[in-house]
Amino acid sequence: ELANRMAERVADVVKALMQNGMMVTQNQSIDADTAELIVEEFGHKIVRVSDSDVEQVIDTVEDKDEDLQPRPPVVTVMGHVDHGKTSLLDAIRNAKVVSGEAGGITQHIGAYQVRADSGQLLTFLDTPGHAAFTSMRARGAQVTDIVILVVAADDAVMPQTVEAINHAKAAGVPMIVAINKVDKPDADPQKVRTALLQHEVIVEQMSGEVQDVEVSAKTGLGLDSLLEAIALQAEILELKANPERAAAGAVIEAQLDVGRGPVATVLVQNGTLKQGDIFVVGEQWGKVRALVNDKGERVKEAGPSVPVEVLGLNGTPEAGDVLNVVETEAQAREIAEYREQAAKEKRAAAGAATSLEQLLAKAKEDENVKELPILVKADVQGSAEAIAQAMEKIGNEEVRVRLLHSAVGAITESDIGLAEASGAPVIGFNVRANAPARAAANQKGVEIRYYSVIYDLVDDVKAAASGLLSAEV
Ligand code: GDP
Repeated sequence: ELANRMAERVADVVKALMQNGMMVTQNQSIDADTAELIVEEFGHKIVRVSDSDVEQVIDTVEDKDEDLQPRPPVVTVMGHVDHGKTSLLDAIRNAKVVSGEAGGITQHIGAYQVRADSGQLLTFLDTPGHAAFTSMRARGAQVTDIVILVVAADDAVMPQTVEAINHAKAAGVPMIVAINKVDKPDADPQKVRTALLQHEVIVEQMSGEVQDVEVSAKTGLGLDSLLEAIALQAEILELKANPERAAAGAVIEAQLDVGRGPVATVLVQNGTLKQGDIFVVGEQWGKVRALVNDKGERVKEAGPSVPVEVLGLNGTPEAGDVLNVVETEAQAREIAEYREQAAKEKRAAAGAATSLEQLLAKAKEDENVKELPILVKADVQGSAEAIAQAMEKIGNEEVRVRLLHSAVGAITESDIGLAEASGAPVIGFNVRANAPARAAANQKGVEIRYYSVIYDLVDDVKAAASGLLSAEV
């Protein structure tokens, strides 16, 4: 490939490599520094291999307006544990998928599609909770268009409800509130609406703009209204894609199947994925051998917002990996190898990722970074609020502190996930990180800072923010 691009003979390039002490064959990948050395040796100009090279192979051309068609919304269900996320997903699936569909046996592939009464197709991600949501986002795949926030009417707004709200806000994804368990005698939907006000979620019944629907996953009450609310929200969002182009999508789940080999459920985000297509997905590549839909049926192709199982991978990708169709197997292999190499280098450099200082360095490079995102965990509500207020005062029109999430309790894995997705440090005020969170932070390179005096925290953040400022001018 390198010889080709330089228009030199392969044998000469291999010889040059060997003279430099690299015992390679002609199909072997070499690292960028070595390639650069060789290119210089041959007297050629260097255009450093980069992501932009990869992008040229992948069809990144913007779609023309006239090629765009409406596509179904992709919905994720979030909320506190036991508030009924799984029950709701099951109830919707059972009510809608089975009736009238030939075969009718639903397969769990990580996502499913149902049709609202109005005829609008809706795609539901089958893994509830924000862990999946943020880990996907951290890997660069923003697949969710709408978040359903489930709150149990016999309970109230709980810590994970607040987390879910902040995750949705950080991702800029609109919410619909499903007030669940209204069949229960002690259900008090109004209490939920009022409690949500405190978290700046103002539902329609409180004259706000967030749709709220009373449902019961148990009796099926309100499910149709919920689906219509989603359809309405989708209409407002004007979601569109171009079914006529090479497919791009995101992996929702993947595993190594004993009988079928590596299998990935891919949510197609743009274009149409077809049998026989050659693709790269994360650090893997493959050729579509078969596509299986959420009803367990073999299909020839899958268009925008359709989830399908993809068979024909050379390895198992990870949830959140992006899939792109390319033209040739050689390209697919080359990109996958390039990414594997890049990922290796990144892993090697990990451990020294997001610190306040590095955020500053990044701000210098990137003119658009005018926000300093942070995540705060504190020992008591009073401190959490005091910190939130102090943070809001820092900064001016040009730069400001963006509080992604502030809550009471130890720093958890979920906090690390959110911080990683937004490139933020985690501040622990009189609280520590638990062991899984520490491990996750190490692995993902998320910085955790501990404070016990609000002043110290404010000083550090101020310094970081003013650094961000001076980097701008
Ligand atoms: P998740 O943790 O949010 O996924 O919650 P689950 O779906 O597992 O539900 C937790 C519990 O609440 C289960 O025992 C469900 O049977 C029950 N549950 C869920 N939805 C309803 C509902 O609408 N009404 C009643 N009465 N119980 C419900």
